[in-house]
Amino acid sequence: MIGLFRYNSLSLSFENIVMTIRTRIAPSPTGFPHVGTAYIALFNMCFAKKHGGEFILRIEDTDQLRSTPESEKMILDSLRWLGLNWSEGPDVGGPHAPYRQSERMHIYKQYALDLIEKGHAFYCFATAEELDQMREEQQARGETQKYDGRGLKLTQEEVQRRLAAGEPHVIRMKVPEEGVCKINDLLRGEVEIPWAQVDMQVLLKTDGLPTYHLANVVDDHLMEITHVLRGEEWLPSAPKHQLLYQYFGWEMPTLCHMPLLRNPDKSKLSKRKNPTSINYYRDIGVLPEALLNYLGRMGWSMPDEREVFTLNDMVEHFDVKRVSLGGPIFDVEKLNWLNGQWIKSLTPGQLLDRLLSWKSDRNTLEDIAAAIQPRIHLLSEAVNWAGFYFNHMPQISKEQFESKKLTEEQVRQSLQFAIWRLESQFTWNNDTVSQILMDLANQMNIKLRDFMPTFFIAIAGSTSSTPVMQSMVTLGPDLTFARLRHALEIVGAPSKKEAKVWEKLNESLKLPKNDAIEQA
Ligand code: GLU
Repeated sequence: MIGLFRYNSLSLSFENIVMTIRTRIAPSPTGFPHVGTAYIALFNMCFAKKHGGEFILRIEDTDQLRSTPESEKMILDSLRWLGLNWSEGPDVGGPHAPYRQSERMHIYKQYALDLIEKGHAFYCFATAEELDQMREEQQARGETQKYDGRGLKLTQEEVQRRLAAGEPHVIRMKVPEEGVCKINDLLRGEVEIPWAQVDMQVLLKTDGLPTYHLANVVDDHLMEITHVLRGEEWLPSAPKHQLLYQYFGWEMPTLCHMPLLRNPDKSKLSKRKNPTSINYYRDIGVLPEALLNYLGRMGWSMPDEREVFTLNDMVEHFDVKRVSLGGPIFDVEKLNWLNGQWIKSLTPGQLLDRLLSWKSDRNTLEDIAAAIQPRIHLLSEAVNWAGFYFNHMPQISKEQFESKKLTEEQVRQSLQFAIWRLESQFTWNNDTVSQILMDLANQMNIKLRDFMPTFFIAIAGSTSSTPVMQSMVTLGPDLTFARLRHALEIVGAPSKKEAKVWEKLNESLKLPKNDAIEQA
């Protein structure tokens, strides 16, 4: 459908431009599916649908080291679970395919070269060591650390000679040194950012691949995106993007930077204080409608202020002007309350259907059956043994973690180190999880039988339970992390300062045995 609107700042006035509103969510598949991604996707979708437009999904996997297909799959699955459907994307195709940047790599280089040609970008041959030294010197002089424009000083001849010699290089964009950049933001009006704060961004890396900034601008243009709603953490990048649009001579989409979700203590939402994975909320039994409803209330409200509403209600009444900029608090208690409202609104039959489809995966249930089989004599005993697989969190106290064999510090460290190590592990199966825990026990010089009780209590609430490494696999990473973090909170999470020291210790433990023991 064709929309007749082109928003201009908060006045929402429109020029007579006929255009289809097109918005997108552009996740980077580098971790678990984050509630922040769902929040931004929801607002993009509502904005597009309200104006009869299209909402599309693009995978931004230019960071090839950190991007994984597992993460991409989890992100797509969880957004679909929520009911946020896109009309174009890597899994459904569309007129601008491919929608995965790693499959579009042949596209970007020519745009960077085009900017060189027009004099808006330049080659830089500085090595990582040179740039480190440059930053150190800037720091010593008390200056802001930023690229000093050294590549701009090279003569044409020198550039040609070094290119011909095959010297490694990047392409950077030119950025004005003085003055301010004015960005029009749909929610904030005009935002001024001094050019002095903007770095001469690398557009094409040494390996010839684009950075986020180049790929993002090129793709938003080629995919005819008209409105970019994204997290406010991207506002400092807006001057670079605006400049790129000018350099290319393209019209820039309207920008709208959404307020960041926050923990109840107002800090930026982080998994240390609140679980942030969408799968965690699914696994503890939050209904997708309730989670969407809750995310819809993050900085936004219905005109009649009603708290319970559906996605369709939100689309129907959506008005981006109603987004307030005060940091919305993602409060799990409030979410639970709202979920309760949704549960109460179901008929008993509908609730039963939800219960039966929640955790209905046959493989998982069979794993649970296998784990409790040696321990039960009556089917009715299954409830006690299997209860912790279905619970939100076991009831645990600090005393339970007291150990004759381990110091309190060892208990705390074993939990924290396990969290760090498991977090960097994407393949979640018996082998990977057991290997990590066994290596950790070994490296901390603790016998496995003294090491494991902490984990039994954290995961199952008791030391007499089904084999805990297997339970962690069956529970999945999200519930496992939530329980380990909860246990760590109870025994005492490290302070920021302590965590820094522990991080080094954790790394040193991975070194060959002799070095590690000395440092531990
Ligand atoms: N790939 C970026 C992210 O992960 C997208 C930012 C944007 O929307 O421009 O958030």
